[in-house]
Parts: sequence; C-alpha cells; structure tokens
Amino acid sequence: MNVRESEKLSGTLEALGYERAGSEDEADLILYNTCCVRENAENKIFGNLSYLKFQKASNPGLIIAVCGCMVQQPDVFNEICEKHSYIDIVFGTANHGMFPELLRRRLETGEPVRDISGMAVAETEGSLKSLTARGHSYKAGVTVMHGCNNFCSYCIVPYVRGRERSRAPEDILREARALADDGVKEIMLLGQNVNSYGQGLDVPVTFAGLLRRVNEIEGLRRIRFMTSHPKDFSNELIEAVRDCDKVCKAVHLPLQSGSTRVLGDMNRKYTKEDYLRLAEKLKERVPDVALSTDIIVGYPGETEEDFLETLDVVRRVGFAGAFTFIYSKRTGTPAALREDLIPKDVTDERFKRLTETVNPMLLARNEARVGTEVEVMLEESKSRLGVRGRADDNTLVHVTGTELPPGSIARVRITEAKTFYLTGTCV
Ligand code: SAH
Ligand code: SF4
Repeated sequence: MNVRESEKLSGTLEALGYERAGSEDEADLILYNTCCVRENAENKIFGNLSYLKFQKASNPGLIIAVCGCMVQQPDVFNEICEKHSYIDIVFGTANHGMFPELLRRRLETGEPVRDISGMAVAETEGSLKSLTARGHSYKAGVTVMHGCNNFCSYCIVPYVRGRERSRAPEDILREARALADDGVKEIMLLGQNVNSYGQGLDVPVTFAGLLRRVNEIEGLRRIRFMTSHPKDFSNELIEAVRDCDKVCKAVHLPLQSGSTRVLGDMNRKYTKEDYLRLAEKLKERVPDVALSTDIIVGYPGETEEDFLETLDVVRRVGFAGAFTFIYSKRTGTPAALREDLIPKDVTDERFKRLTETVNPMLLARNEARVGTEVEVMLEESKSRLGVRGRADDNTLVHVTGTELPPGSIARVRITEAKTFYLTGTCV
C-alpha cells in the first residue's frame, strides 16, 4: 500500500513539473513516505534523516519532506517538530491530497509546514494523472479501502490510518480501467482487510462482487488482492476467486500465530481450528490454490507450547510463502502495555526454528515443479539468471530464451528450483 501511495505522490510531483533526480545528491526535493508497522522501519528513516541533515548543510535549497504512518504518531510528530527543524514539510496519511498545497506554502514562505490533521476525512479522489502514475508499466496497485477497524492488539495501523473507509466501486473501476487502457496487465487490489470492503457505502457491494466486476475489465490479465483477514473470508469470496479467470489462485492469509490462546490475546477473532478449516476449504474449492501468510514470533506471553502450535499449522497448511516477523512493541497499542515480554534469545531461537521449518517446505514445493510448465508474467529487470517474472502464485521465476516485453505472459519450462525462486526456459 505504501508503494502505491508513493507512486501517486511521484505522479503528483510530475504533474507539478518535477522530474526524478538521478541520485539524492542531485535532488532539490526528497520525500520520505514512511512505515511504522515495526520498529526497524522507523529506525531506518531516522538514520536516513540524520544523513540528510548533513546534506542540507551543503545544499541549503534542498527541501526535505516526510509523510506517512510514522509521522502520524503524536510522539514522533512532536519529536520531528522539536528536534528536526531541518525537515521542511511533514504531512500525515490523510493529507496526501494536500501535498501540492503544502509544498507551495513552503516554497512561498520559507517556513516549515507541518500538518497531520484530517485523519477521519475520506481521501479525495485526486487527479487521474496522479492515480495512474506508477513505478511499473505493466502492474499497479489499486487501493479499495483505507484504514482498519480490527485493532489487533500488537498493531499500530488503526491508530495511524484511522477507521475503515471503502472507496466507491465506480471510482475503483474507473481507476482500474484507466490503468488497463494505459497498458497495465496486472492489478493488485489493496486494503488492510479487503473482506470487509463495502461496509458503510450507500450501494450494497461486497469484495467478491467488486472482484467479479474488475475481472470483466478488458486488457487486464491478472488480478491479485491483499490482505484478507481469516476471520471473515466468505464463501462468496472463495467462489469469486475460483470463478474469475483473471484472479490469481493465490491467497495471502495472515496467520500471526497458531495458538488459539495467543490469537485470543491478539484479538484476531479466529482459533487455530478456524484457520485450518478455512485453509482446507480454500484448497478443496480452488484447485491448486497457493496460500501465503504472515507470522509473528515472540508475542508477549508466547510459550514454547504456543510456538509449537504455530509450527504445527505451518506443517499442516504447506504455505507457498511466509513473511515472518519478530514481535515489535508499538507504543499506543494494547500489547505495548504487557510486561511478559519474551527474551531476545528465545525469540531469535524460535524465529530460526520457524524459518528452518518454512524454508525446506518452500524448496520441496518448488522442486515438485521442475519439469512442469508454468505461466510467468515477465518483469523489466534482468539478472545473470534471466528475465525476472512471477508465476500465477507469485513465485519468482528467472526466465531465459525470451525477448518478450515486460507484462507479457510466457509459458516457461521449469529447469531448476531453489527455496525462493525457480529458473526456466521460455517455450
Ligand atoms: N492488515 C494486514 C496486516 C498489515 S501489517 C492483516 O491483518 O493481515 C503486515 C504484517 O505485519 C502483519 O500481518 C503482521 O504479521 C506484521 N506486524 C504488524 N504489527 C506488528 C508488530 N507490532 N510486530 C511484528 N509484526 C507486526
Ligand atoms: Fe493491523 Fe489487524 Fe488491521 Fe491487519 S487487521 S492492519 S494486523 S489491526
């Protein structure tokens, strides 16, 4: 979602006449779109900002702007205002549409401009130019909803992005059609919990209904979506994934923990058994569906038994991909008040065991595909292994023997398998 929002902000700057600089040294303006979902992401930004402070000393005309989730936290916002006076513009997650105005104010007055108000205000739809701006010619994200109402106990997102707001289906479809007309072949529909899409809209519409309508857009070849919460994955959505020819048979279904007790503490609203049942149902009803997941290790109070439950789910589901995270305390969330933190050596050891369980399963899954043919959407980047591309289930594939342009779908015979990618030849 941040990548998509950065693309729109780049589009806004291009519409104002700015051009992309070759490097930071050449730039007149540097804009950081930040994330605060884990502490690491924040530390990186603070590190970069300290570096820019020196750069600004040698180039006083440089404008530094920071936006996004991180600055939406009151303590971070205050710290920037008090201690980082060299940052010229700060704006929050709901003020993206105001960026040109904030930039104009900064240029006219020479004074810092800081505004993170307007959290509850629904985003204005913006100009089509900035909506269609993007980092790749052949694929793009389309935001279907903003914010989140779930308040998982560890998660900062509802606090920095506000309550859930669905975009009107006509706006989403107009954006998706404009992208398809512009040559986009793959669209990723984005929301923190796409399953609850449509709530609060005047027209009755579900995410499954939206998916079916996006599926009808001419020119598109692939549709993905992210993320669906296991607690309310409807049968209607399973059927839409099965029926829609362009919808990739790949579902990202964040598990977080395999322990029903920890899931309760996390406020996830499903049990281990609910999750396993849903995974089974998806596999039964959508042939060859690839399930991927997010897992947090070391949530406060997580015992060895809890962790073994997580490993058990991993073994039983057989994920096609897993993003694994060590729990990161986020100030302002309920979990941050807990005192039963797991010592670092224990989380590190569990994290290692988790990847040692996940990775051989990924390798085995990939090895089973050697000798088969898969459809790969080609990307623009190349390596010594060939042109990069993605299979329908999002597996990275390096393809040799093709001159097809990015966005083409090639039939590829798989010749070699590794844990995180396949290699093959275009047939
Ligand atoms: N809305 C999505 C998640 C968005 S955040 C969903 O619920 O599926 C992406 C992932 O970051 C989460 O799934 C979770 O695994 C991880 N994450 C979020 N907060 C975290 C924290 N405080 N510590 C560690 N990982 C976290
Ligand atoms: Fe965070 Fe939970 Fe909302 Fe996902 S569903 S963004 S993990 S609060």
